[in-house]
Amino acid sequence: MTSRRPLIAGNWKMNGLTADGSSLASGLAEKMTAAGDVFFEMLVCPPFTLISKIADCLGGSGIALGAQDCHANEKGAHTGDISAAMLKDAGCAYVIVGHSERRTDHGESNETVRDKAAAVHAAGLGAVICIGETEAERDAGQTLDVNKAQIAGSLPEGATAANTVIAYEPVWAIGTGRTPTNDEVQDVHAFIRGELAGHLGESEAAAMRILYGGSMKPGNAKELLALADVDGGLIGGASLTVEDFWGIAESV
Ligand code: PEP
Repeated sequence: MTSRRPLIAGNWKMNGLTADGSSLASGLAEKMTAAGDVFFEMLVCPPFTLISKIADCLGGSGIALGAQDCHANEKGAHTGDISAAMLKDAGCAYVIVGHSERRTDHGESNETVRDKAAAVHAAGLGAVICIGETEAERDAGQTLDVNKAQIAGSLPEGATAANTVIAYEPVWAIGTGRTPTNDEVQDVHAFIRGELAGHLGESEAAAMRILYGGSMKPGNAKELLALADVDGGLIGGASLTVEDFWGIAESV
């Protein structure tokens, strides 16, 4: 048992209209309120269009609200973009940065991710920084090297255990139903913690939460979440129903 509070985070991606998003958030809020004091922290990250609505639905349930991306600047001439300050104003406590779908779809580099994470910190929010190797990199035996480089490149100055969460998401496991073995997950997480120690010092690294993401479901969550260096999950598909997402949280 560690002192790190597990974080169960849902990434809704580009899913949810007002009716189904509200119903999902309200259902989770009801579960959380009924559960009372829980050891884990829960976070939901809806699309931008639903953030204000979901803030209302979550009410005083204690479930945190987050966004899936932000711009690196605080304001200005960036048509279509959203800043971390705006997200804070809308009720967010966290912002996911560097998700593999943004790295791929929008060509985001480690440097972009680092600047976005710095902007999240500057706004007083928590950054969930995503890293992870592709299948080709894994097959080439580059898993540790890739994650090492992503940590070195994506972690901004001033990152601490209080303002940063790392999400290890093997790209080939996202939305595919495939996962690494438990030993592989633990080995990569322990390696990541070692790398964090090199950048931030032992005590920040020991306190920083490292989430696993990639096809986590109620059926495999218990064993993944029990691993020594796994401090929660970043969950895509299974965060879209109350039953599955709450089922994962309950297995902490
Ligand atoms: C994700 O996109 O962050 C993710 C982990 O997705 P899924 O749970 O659907 O694999």
